Amino acid sequence: MSRKKIVAGNWKMNTDYNEAMALITNVFNASKTLINVEKIIFPPFPFLQSACEITKNETSFFIGAQNCSEHLSGAYTGEVSANMINSIGCSYVLIGHSERRLFFKETDDQLILKIKHALNHNLRIVYCVGEQLDERKNASHFDVVRAQLENVLNNFNELDLEKIHIAYEPVWAIGTGETATPDQAQEMHAYIRGVINKNFSAEAAEKINILYGGSCNSKNAKELFSCNDIDGGLIGGASLKADEFCKIMLSF
Ligand code: PEP
Repeated sequence: MSRKKIVAGNWKMNTDYNEAMALITNVFNASKTLINVEKIIFPPFPFLQSACEITKNETSFFIGAQNCSEHLSGAYTGEVSANMINSIGCSYVLIGHSERRLFFKETDDQLILKIKHALNHNLRIVYCVGEQLDERKNASHFDVVRAQLENVLNNFNELDLEKIHIAYEPVWAIGTGETATPDQAQEMHAYIRGVINKNFSAEAAEKINILYGGSCNSKNAKELFSCNDIDGGLIGGASLKADEFCKIMLSF
């Protein structure tokens, strides 16, 4: 089965308004003819609506939020709901990024609620999993990733799963310049597909898109994306430079 190819850019808390508009415009224009690759950009919240306006009506270019609230609405000062994100034209939300798990102490229960609200508000999800360095060193990385998958995704059904992409992001590779080798990444991606097979079905495992994230750049993307179970990338630092991100989009 040939799965969709996807390149997603997570801008994190970077860019101001002018920089964000220049970056999205450059990436969008450069990718117009690349219709066989799905592009997803996760800009900071204040720039989402303008980014949606620039990219609207494009069938292979989507905008997503980097987070959403576990609450539906109400007295939660500073929070942004799935409904708000959907109502300005976003298609995606990033859930479970390691920076949210680590710095904001997001728990599996919160992630389940966030995914529920996102699905109920017609948003697709990129759900991030990945082990810490000590977990890889003590060889518990498969168990850690399996728990992150099962604890959260087993609360959803196979139809829900069709709206969820998984991003495998070893935490020791995020922003460090140290990339997982293609063998390490492929091994974990195949394992993740096995977990989906066991908990859902062979068809679901075959269909689900699994992206690699962690210091992916224009130099290593081609080798990573050529692995059987790697369907694309979630790109942090390298998504902040239009030319670098465009080269990654061309790496399939
Ligand atoms: C990320 O944070 O999702 C990421 C992959 O970052 P980087 O590419 O900078 O390692």
